[in-house]
Amino acid sequence: MKPRILIIYTGGTIGMIEDPATKALRPFDFSHLMENVPKVKMLDYQIDNIQFAPPIDSSDMSPEHWQQIASSISDNYDSYDGFVVLHGTDTMAYTASALSFMLQGLSKPVIITGSQLPIGEVRTDGEENLITALQIAAARAADGRPMVQEVAILFENYLWRGDRSTKRSSDHFNAFKSNNYPYLAKIGLGITYDQDALDRRENKRLKVFTRLDTSVMCIDLFPGLTEATLRHQLAAPDIKGVVLRTYGAGNGPTAPWFLSAVKDACDRGLVLLNVTQCVNGSVHSSRYQAGDLLSATGVISGHDITFEAAITKMMHLFGQGMSRAEVIEALKNPLAGEMTV
Ligand code: ASP
Repeated sequence: MKPRILIIYTGGTIGMIEDPATKALRPFDFSHLMENVPKVKMLDYQIDNIQFAPPIDSSDMSPEHWQQIASSISDNYDSYDGFVVLHGTDTMAYTASALSFMLQGLSKPVIITGSQLPIGEVRTDGEENLITALQIAAARAADGRPMVQEVAILFENYLWRGDRSTKRSSDHFNAFKSNNYPYLAKIGLGITYDQDALDRRENKRLKVFTRLDTSVMCIDLFPGLTEATLRHQLAAPDIKGVVLRTYGAGNGPTAPWFLSAVKDACDRGLVLLNVTQCVNGSVHSSRYQAGDLLSATGVISGHDITFEAAITKMMHLFGQGMSRAEVIEALKNPLAGEMTV
């Protein structure tokens, strides 16, 4: 049986062409993509596609689009062996994170890829990324089960867990990285999978969650942040959850005005999640007094979660209509391999 792969083309640079008049890149339609990658036909796969109409720059990605992608996958789950999502790089890590919470218990691959150069360009990275993504989506392990059974980002030389990934470069071909988790596969002459890093648990059952609640926001700490600004941010209307981006191992100012503003917000019912601004490493609230004092206000540790996973996890949890206590409990535990506790 030929592997059956469904490509969901959302837009992004991979499918873009140059507007002859303005020289700016604009989305093109999927037929352009297939015309430019005749090599795809050399893979002996049955490939079908669904296309966003119109394709979008991923800067315009929204929770409604995530619902569209998740539904396309769940509606077609039984008919395909794997899924490849073509996506702009800018918000790819957010989409990968959101999908990992929306499609829990995957036993088939959902591989997200895109490119830094349009697929029509001579030096494009899009052709290679697309072909490798298709091969990974079709790959099976010795036991006959799909090799990858989770949402992952394939980009240039690596396959990363989706909800562990971050875009790290707007210039380089290796544009993504998991700063706190090993790669799932390394792409060189061959594709070498890391069996220990992959989620290959048996007997998983797909559960689809399409409801998301966007009553969330983020606050970045910086020296010079004033009490008035912080209180104003924490008083934003209709907000239920805040990702608080802190220093180092999860530290914030020890000034009483800061701690009382944060405590007031927690007491009022906001859920605050402590995520470090460091690209690598974890929140260790009790390592410094500055972290200890902050956790005493009621802020929860996000451990080594990425910002992208933190904000989308909150959207997912609030979207399930959970109480504040349930959301807090769920934030403390990994849901889809997004953090190490
Ligand atoms: N702005 C583009 C997007 O995210 C960038 C890219 O695809 O690399 O859609």
